[in-house]
Amino acid sequence: MHLLNADLHCHSNVSDGTLSPEDVALRAHQNGVELWALTDHDEVGGQLRARDAALALGMSYLPGVEISVTFAGKTVHIVGLGFDPENPAIAQGLADTRGGRERRARDMAESLAQAGIPGAFDGALKYVGNPDLISRTHFARYLVEIGICKDPHEVFKRYLTEGKPGYVEHRWANLSDAVRWVTGAGGVAVIAHPGRYDFTPNEEYALFSEFKAHGGLGVEVVTGSHSVPEYQIYAETAKEFGLAASRGSDFHSPDESHTELGTLPALPSGLTPVWDLLSSRIQ
Ligand code: AMP
Ligand code: MN
Ligand code: MN
Ligand code: MN
Repeated sequence: MHLLNADLHCHSNVSDGTLSPEDVALRAHQNGVELWALTDHDEVGGQLRARDAALALGMSYLPGVEISVTFAGKTVHIVGLGFDPENPAIAQGLADTRGGRERRARDMAESLAQAGIPGAFDGALKYVGNPDLISRTHFARYLVEIGICKDPHEVFKRYLTEGKPGYVEHRWANLSDAVRWVTGAGGVAVIAHPGRYDFTPNEEYALFSEFKAHGGLGVEVVTGSHSVPEYQIYAETAKEFGLAASRGSDFHSPDESHTELGTLPALPSGLTPVWDLLSSRIQ
């Protein structure tokens, strides 16, 4: 089923997207998506709304989430698909992962204030749809609003990444816990956009082998966060590690330069699509 238009990675205003779960569902459907998952960061609060909206449109649905993990001192994202969003262990794990975000945001605001940008906490909050989920993206939107930078990407480059004023170290979930929460709730864990991490080859090898040892089964190959050459690179990595392949836009907003829902190329041939592992979980 390589040609199924599956989009299994995107965000609503329950995390750092700008559209409601219902509006993301509608946009996905209008773009021809046949199998959809909403994967908000560290949060399943939008899952029932997303599923209901998808089913009302006649679009198949898989529950989804994107979990923030710290691995080898860097932030890695693990997408969970097809799990039970009401499972108590994953619900608690995600609540714990979200828990440090407000403190972190206050520290980021303090650090921005020292760099001459006061009021960023309240400024970012204006863009937050879910008070439990204040993220760097919300700060980026505020810094664009007040004219410090021309777009969110520039804000990340100048302010919100390692070594820049406004960046605050943060400890997220463990890789083993994130994989266990997803698989323990009946789902499949997937390494999100591996091309985006700044790992050495050894660190990347460790990520894939440990992920697999913990029971992870998939990797994103075709994603809005990869360049075209990276589709082929990570298709090979998927084969090397015996992982299924996923596809998702990582869409956040119609106004920001992200890949549009449902418009990416199909998975390269010779891979097992992750949705083949999840047929019994598709709603
Ligand atoms: P956080 O979970 O608060 O660390 O925020 C991470 C989010 O920031 C990611 O999910 C992206 O939506 C966004 N992000 C990260 N890097 C960039 C970038 N270079 N340009 C635009 N958005 C970014
Ligand atoms: Mn995001
Ligand atoms: Mn991500
Ligand atoms: Mn994402």
